[in-house]
Amino acid sequence: MRNNKMKLLLPSTMARAGWDVVKARVDIEAIPFEFNMPTPTFHALLRDAHGVALGLTPFAEAELRAAPNLRVVARVGVGYDTVDVAALTRHNIPLMVTGTANSPSVAEQALFFMLALAKRGARLHAMVREGRWADRLKELPVDLFGKTVLVVGFGRIGKRISKACLALGMTVLVYDPYVAAKAVTAAGFVPVGELDAALTHADFVTIHCPKNSETMGMFNAARLARMKSSAYLVNISRGGVVDQDALVEALRERRIAGAGLDVFTPEPLSPGHPLTTLDNVVLTPHVGAGTLDAFRTKMRFALGNIQRVVQGDPPLERVPGA
Ligand code: NAD
Repeated sequence: MRNNKMKLLLPSTMARAGWDVVKARVDIEAIPFEFNMPTPTFHALLRDAHGVALGLTPFAEAELRAAPNLRVVARVGVGYDTVDVAALTRHNIPLMVTGTANSPSVAEQALFFMLALAKRGARLHAMVREGRWADRLKELPVDLFGKTVLVVGFGRIGKRISKACLALGMTVLVYDPYVAAKAVTAAGFVPVGELDAALTHADFVTIHCPKNSETMGMFNAARLARMKSSAYLVNISRGGVVDQDALVEALRERRIAGAGLDVFTPEPLSPGHPLTTLDNVVLTPHVGAGTLDAFRTKMRFALGNIQRVVQGDPPLERVPGA
């Protein structure tokens, strides 16, 4: 394999920066696949593939059966809720993620949401464009300085946003049942053991845990009701972690001040969805990790991950259990 071309299926939606990385590699035959292509067509492409790099295309037993030469599955990203890890384990195929390749981009996007909400970015912009200068003191922005943020999930992304918030003079509470409290304290933040109790203190809540059976619906109506009416929610993890219908109600009735959302259920969010009609939200189309810089880095990491497995080197950033 070392001297032969690796046949890799790569998502056609990958930004040009990603394709540039592949084109520069003479050892790779890159075959694009569409996100929503008919299953038989995707399976036909899988037949000769040695590796597949996945965007958000679901990948499970049927795909593995269609891919007899497959040696490795790599996500061009870090979440793997769309991949059947148990099926990969049964077939002895490793799954790799791209580690810290997109953490800076996602953490920056979370900070963007917090600032856009606090500083009323879209509304004040519209005010100037529409010649409503005189309205400028009617709805004052707020500062992040001196406020309390609750960071849910203290992994690669959660740690970065925690540091950024601390640098802005915020009190940073961290909820992560899988990280020792002393590690959070040592990093300069305040560990919290009870999510429900912490929610009542936070001015901003930003979610950075994975979507899995434990976190699905974690932010349900009861949890949202614990938030202050002046508080903002940022979700840049996965849609299902927040009960979207309950969030719409909380936003509509101003039981929380606003939300910044990059992820939805389902995606894409339909154009007429109630969330698109609210004036206290900032919405982006799942692009937290979609910066030009992140695409380049993620693709390099994903290709490196695939190449290591195909060459028989110890895999890096391997998902436990796959
Ligand atoms: P990570 O694995 O480094 O960190 C996740 C953290 O969440 C871990 O510390 C884990 O202990 C914690 N966690 C697990 N269950 C929890 C729970 N019930 N409550 C609180 N914390 C819990 O992952 P990461 O690189 O920081 O990414 C986090 C998530 O962000 C990913 O799983 C993915 O879903 C999402 N993400 C979204 C985008 C985007 O474009 N919007 C991009 C990258 C990642």
